[in-house]
Amino acid sequence: MKLFRHGKAGHERPGMIDASGQMRDLDGVVSDIAGEVLLPEGLARLAALDPASLPLVPEGTRYGPCVGRVGKFICVGLNYADHAAESGMEVPSEPVLFFKATSAICGPDDDVIIPRGSVKTDWEVELGVVIGREARYVSQADALDHVAGYCVINDLSEREFQLERGGQWVKGKSCDTFGPIGPWLVTRDEVPDPQQLGIWLEVDGVRRQNGNTRTMIFGIAEIVSYISQFMSLQPGDVISTGTPPGVGLGMKPEPVYLRAGQKMHLGIDGLGVQTQTTVVASGAAEKNGGRHAL
Ligand code: ZN
Repeated sequence: MKLFRHGKAGHERPGMIDASGQMRDLDGVVSDIAGEVLLPEGLARLAALDPASLPLVPEGTRYGPCVGRVGKFICVGLNYADHAAESGMEVPSEPVLFFKATSAICGPDDDVIIPRGSVKTDWEVELGVVIGREARYVSQADALDHVAGYCVINDLSEREFQLERGGQWVKGKSCDTFGPIGPWLVTRDEVPDPQQLGIWLEVDGVRRQNGNTRTMIFGIAEIVSYISQFMSLQPGDVISTGTPPGVGLGMKPEPVYLRAGQKMHLGIDGLGVQTQTTVVASGAAEKNGGRHAL
């Protein structure tokens, strides 16, 4: 199944894609694509529906983030060897974990706001894992049983905030709109091998990232198992599993960062595509001396 959320930001309603690719409304069937709806029983109930019997969602309706009420937004850093190299970092011996604020979450095609004072806003296409069943000290062999499905994530990052302003990476990862999620939550049964997915990102039509999830250092099962040794994972938690090479920070001869008015286009095989336009934060021109002139 391909599940999604649609409508105005903060007021999204649940939906599912039918066999012909049309958006169908699940309003009144379930309250949201969130929490217990993501449990195996909840997904089984949705799978038993005939999507053609559900009302169509009007074309052009906004996609919201494909998961609601996300409790934890956990990221894995430097999980592709080539990306670690381009970032000038060692290949980690254990998964590097950090958090993004859940307030960064937005729809897959929403505008991305370049934060006030930012000169190093960067892109990172990533495979997202949505937890469907509580996971606590799970083995690698059982880990995928706790996954509801997968989605596309853009782990937007402000490199100066992240790397040059002290402390943890969280400051450079949590700005509003730095977490587009969706368009769909694709259930696990439709993704037989999450370690064989093409993953790519373009900026203004130029292919910047072009990878495959097969080159992850730590695979999905290992990541879910590993995180569950440190904290329990709950239905609706989202894990962003690292980005392949080709981020702006790693561009040669020098880094390339996003300016207002640019278009990002990114996707993963079978999980859909996102399109975002960068916009300047309101009031930013006065705050940063207009460094983000178009
Ligand atoms: Zn990332």
